[in-house]
Amino acid sequence: MCYAIPGRIESIENKTVVVDYFGEKKKAYNELDGLAIGDYIYAQGGYAIQKIPEDEAKSILAVWRETFFELQEVDLKLSRLDLNQQSVPAGFLKVLDKAAEGRKLTKDELLLLMKGKSQPALKLLFKTANFLRQKHHKNSCCVHGIIEISNDCRANCGYCGIAAGNQNINRYRLSGEQILEAARQAIEIHGFKALVLQSAEDSGYDIKELAEIIRKIKANWPALIFISFGEVGLDNLRILYDAGARGLLLRFETSNPQLYREVTAGKELTSRIAHLKRAYQLGYLVITGGLIGLPGQTEEDLLNDILLTKELHAEMYSFGPFIPHPQTPLAGYPSASVETVLKVSAISRIVDAANAKILVTTALETLDPAARREALLSGANSVMLNVTPLEYRPFYNIYPARAHETESIETQISDTIGLLMSLGRSPTDLSV
Ligand code: SAM
Repeated sequence: MCYAIPGRIESIENKTVVVDYFGEKKKAYNELDGLAIGDYIYAQGGYAIQKIPEDEAKSILAVWRETFFELQEVDLKLSRLDLNQQSVPAGFLKVLDKAAEGRKLTKDELLLLMKGKSQPALKLLFKTANFLRQKHHKNSCCVHGIIEISNDCRANCGYCGIAAGNQNINRYRLSGEQILEAARQAIEIHGFKALVLQSAEDSGYDIKELAEIIRKIKANWPALIFISFGEVGLDNLRILYDAGARGLLLRFETSNPQLYREVTAGKELTSRIAHLKRAYQLGYLVITGGLIGLPGQTEEDLLNDILLTKELHAEMYSFGPFIPHPQTPLAGYPSASVETVLKVSAISRIVDAANAKILVTTALETLDPAARREALLSGANSVMLNVTPLEYRPFYNIYPARAHETESIETQISDTIGLLMSLGRSPTDLSV
């Protein structure tokens, strides 16, 4: 099973190719040598990442052809919207009506949605987000893999179980060979087309070593590579880009500078934001967002987080619930609620309807396994599967009892595909 379907190149202009997927045309940036009209390729995140032989492409497409349209039908049915709801307060309804029409909401209107409490109102908010997701992105859902390569951290964020201050965990750092093998398995055996390499802020890796690993992955197994190593330094972002990384996953955690300082033991938000801005300038696809439910965080803070994510040109929104870890300074605070996470997902979709890919996080699934489905029906259209070697996963315990910690990759894939199909979603990455 692949996580993207091949498309046929219809036209080429400089570095841009137009690709046909069962009649839908999408643009992709081409960094491959020797592509010609009529070739079949895989594209991810707007990049052409691999040319594949015509026979192979045609046999994959033959399998997909019927399913592709059947799934779109199911999705369309599930995303119908009826705004004639007596039980929803008139003011709330008016704002949703405006959102559904694609008109830009004011900050006050967005805040009204964020402060919504009644169940019928929230249900309709989630449905509106799902309607907009379907309208702009059809039924495509990104499925990325993530390898957690190290939990050895120099930072001391107060929420995080692998922070330097926690003396009670076993630290690990995968070697270059182990990372390459994990990447090979994810891409070659399991079919991932987009892979995130994530680590704690680990001084134990040299930047040249990380660049070399990325270079080797790109040379051997075509995929879109995202890095998530924390604040590596602005110049190092370029080194990793030149090595072939094309995406950066870096949450700003909270857009409130004072709250950021408090929960990160005095770090400055400006530094994190500078990384995100430089990454965008360099050409990285940006995945960012924040933690929902930090102590003292307000609803307005959360709305500002969403607006900042848009301002940073995020390709993908990554917002997950704070879950307390017993060996951290924030141990005594409660987790965010599933409802608040779904609200953030839905309002993100309304704010950035046509562009945003919105991730369902593992942390949300940890709060409630059923929430993955709910989030996919509340504006989200992306999931990440943990392809870290099983023996290391328990050590990356940023919060306790992480979902999928003991599940094989095969199980995660089959469960995910099953869920996506039941919702009429295609595990593809076609939005460009
Ligand atoms: N070092 C990289 C960085 O700084 O972005 C990536 C690793 S960091 C552990 C990945 C993410 O874990 C953080 O951006 C944070 O939002 C999330 N995280 C850490 N502790 C958490 C907790 N207790 N609950 C939920 N998410 C948490």
